[in-house]
Amino acid sequence: MKKVYKWLGLEKHEDFVNEYFAVANFRASLYMSIVIIVLEGWMILSLAIRWLSGDRTRTTDWYVSHVTWYGIMIVSAVMVLYFSLGYLKKRLTGPFMRFIGQSVLAAFALVSLSFGMNVSISDYSRGEQILCFVMMVIYVIGLLNWRPVIAITTATAAYLVFYHRMGQFPMHPISYATKVNLFTLWVSNVMLSLSVYQQRLSEAEKENELEKASVRDDLTGIPNFPTFRTKAARLLQENGVDDRIFLFLDIANFKSYNEKYGFEMGNECIRDIARLISQVFEEDLYARFSDDHFVVLTRRSRLDGKLRQLQLNGSGDQDVNQISLKVGAYEPRHQDVDPSIACDHARYACSMIKKHYDHDYCEYDREMDAGFRRRQYIVTHIEEAVEKGYIRVFYQPVVTAKDRTLCGLEALARWVDPIYGFLSPADFIPALEEYRLIGKLDKAVIEIVCRDLQESITDNRRVVPVSVNISRLDFELLNVPALFRSCLENFEIQPHFLHAEITESALVLSEGVLKKATDQLKELGSQLWLDDFGSGYSSLNVLKDYDFDVMKIDMSFLKNFEGNEKSRTILKSITAMASLIGMRTVCEGVETAEAADFLTQIGCERLQGYYFGKPMPLSEIWEKGEHFA
Ligand code: C2E
Ligand code: CA
Ligand code: CA
Repeated sequence: MKKVYKWLGLEKHEDFVNEYFAVANFRASLYMSIVIIVLEGWMILSLAIRWLSGDRTRTTDWYVSHVTWYGIMIVSAVMVLYFSLGYLKKRLTGPFMRFIGQSVLAAFALVSLSFGMNVSISDYSRGEQILCFVMMVIYVIGLLNWRPVIAITTATAAYLVFYHRMGQFPMHPISYATKVNLFTLWVSNVMLSLSVYQQRLSEAEKENELEKASVRDDLTGIPNFPTFRTKAARLLQENGVDDRIFLFLDIANFKSYNEKYGFEMGNECIRDIARLISQVFEEDLYARFSDDHFVVLTRRSRLDGKLRQLQLNGSGDQDVNQISLKVGAYEPRHQDVDPSIACDHARYACSMIKKHYDHDYCEYDREMDAGFRRRQYIVTHIEEAVEKGYIRVFYQPVVTAKDRTLCGLEALARWVDPIYGFLSPADFIPALEEYRLIGKLDKAVIEIVCRDLQESITDNRRVVPVSVNISRLDFELLNVPALFRSCLENFEIQPHFLHAEITESALVLSEGVLKKATDQLKELGSQLWLDDFGSGYSSLNVLKDYDFDVMKIDMSFLKNFEGNEKSRTILKSITAMASLIGMRTVCEGVETAEAADFLTQIGCERLQGYYFGKPMPLSEIWEKGEHFA
């Protein structure tokens, strides 16, 4: 039954399919209407010439009736032309205009059919062929897309009427051959209309699928950001900014959730949140922005209730309950605002509360303007900064505890900008990490370090190993071992002069990839340093799973070190444990002689901190010579 319905074209179509049919019909009619305007115009002209030149072989009535027919054809063709052009050029849009246009088309189809019929009947009465009727039927039934019921009914009716009118000429009785020909024509017309319809329908459905895929996000099925941007811009244009507010939603602690439960569960969590957002903001615009980020354009007056729903609606699942959302908000000031930029503002507000466990909502205000602009500047100018040499590398000395001589350097990035002046890593590292651009910086730093090393070797300086900071994202954004290898080769540096400092927090993520990369770095001959050890990110497990050469003890242990017995005991135990498992130790953040002496005494092998020297340009390191402090 369903099949018959479908075959007859009785099923309901999605709007996209209706639109597709309408466009195809308008396009076909566009050409047809031009042909008819030219043809009928020519007919009227030739009749006029005939009449004016005094030909009265026909009655005046005959002239008038013919000109009237041609006139009706021209007028309806002009209307079709107007609607087809307007629709195809998108000057006329929307379902209502489509309905009007299609009605005009239907009227045109009927006029064409009766015109073809009249002309051909008059031809037939003179013993000539019925080409005009055939041509019109092919156009109306075969070329346009009607639902098959309509096409079949119309074709049948047209042929029956035509057949009946042919029978009205006693001097031309319908021969057997003519009957067969007419029947064959009818059959082929019906077949043509059916096949055109089915073919168009499948094309339309395929395109509909593609269209859906291009507006939806693959993972969650909710709209993607480009769709959001277009719709949001249109909405603000049409309705203004009154009561509108952009939200940027970030799943708090998503990284650790992913680490703990794995990739699949992480995706499941993103899908859950997408579902929640689509329920809470059902009447608003929303989209997945990227990774674990979503954006919404909603009404300020309803915001409080919606935010409450976001927090309460978390599914009953214990684990999912650990998940909460951080929300940044931005009230657009002008209806021409670019939704991407509005979302960036909301995102910036959201980043303000990233590390504040007691805040889950933050609204952008004018005081954030300077910070926001600087951050936008950073993420849009990092490539330029690398190319133009605004990125510099400062070096901080690392000394051996025993004799306090230089044994290594840590490379720390600085951005000396023509507009913003001196930027510290605290300004640009978090921004670059958030926008996944940190790889560009770290690649540049590694290259600068290798170039500096090469120059030092050429200048016959005493060369010490340099450790570079590798962000955990670098392992996703770059092929770190390949980068190390190519830089070392290009600048002809021995691998043991280049070390990689990786923070603990990097190690929990995407274990397999990271393990492989760190193993490759070691194979290459570069040392691996575990940065910020004890800063609270992860467990002692990383010590057993990874093959680190050096442990860098976080400077937080030296805070309030003076009177604090516990700090001393902890430092002592860490150093002892490191040496038991065959790791060497560096302690960073050494600011006083007392701290340096204590660390030396408990067997920490190397020291780094302001007491020995702040990060400085390489030339200053050379000026200082061997001894620091
Ligand atoms: P980090 O790797 O832990 O680097 C040590 C930071 O502590 C440096 O700050 C350094 O100047 C500072 N410091 C050194 N000695 C002392 C001291 O005695 N007392 C105190 N209070 N601080 C000391 P800086 O250069 O501002 O870098 C901050 C962070 O930015 C670095 O922390 C590192 O995580 C990141 N970073 C710096 N350069 C790069 C880079 O090229 N790539 C990546 N991915 N991260 C970098
Ligand atoms: Ca470091
Ligand atoms: Ca550190």
